[in-house]
Amino acid sequence: MPNESIIALDLEGTLISNAVSQFARPGLFKYLSWCKDYFEEVYIYSAVRDSKCHEIVYNLVSRNLAPKWLEDTQFIQWDRKFKDLANIAGATIEDCLIVDDNRDYILDDQIHQWIKIKKWSPPYSDTDRELERVQEIIEARLAHTP
Ligand SMILES: [Mg+2]
Repeated sequence: MPNESIIALDLEGTLISNAVSQFARPGLFKYLSWCKDYFEEVYIYSAVRDSKCHEIVYNLVSRNLAPKWLEDTQFIQWDRKFKDLANIAGATIEDCLIVDDNRDYILDDQIHQWIKIKKWSPPYSDTDRELERVQEIIEARLAHTP
């Protein structure tokens, strides 16, 4: 029985602007805190190289734009072609949800585990509410999961 207790989060276009400017998407701190409460495990699943991911996370936490625990969050290792949920150790595909703005990374046979988020793009509006919207979608989905 799938219980979807694991969430994997893309970075660029999903949680932040991009690896260069590193703007935090509106509602980021609140959204991450919700993820931590709602899921048993939270991962970052990003095409950005690990050392840069560490820098991004450090910068977000330093500026109080993300909770401190994000610094201990594991980055999923992958081939940079597809964000295969099988790369998440100790979990079945059905245990995992992935929040990503880019469908190209999602395997066709895992598309049902994909939570689509609208890419946060220039001019990086501070009235963007996508993280809130996605949270509501996930809450509704899990409420209907037996
Ligand atoms: Mg992205």
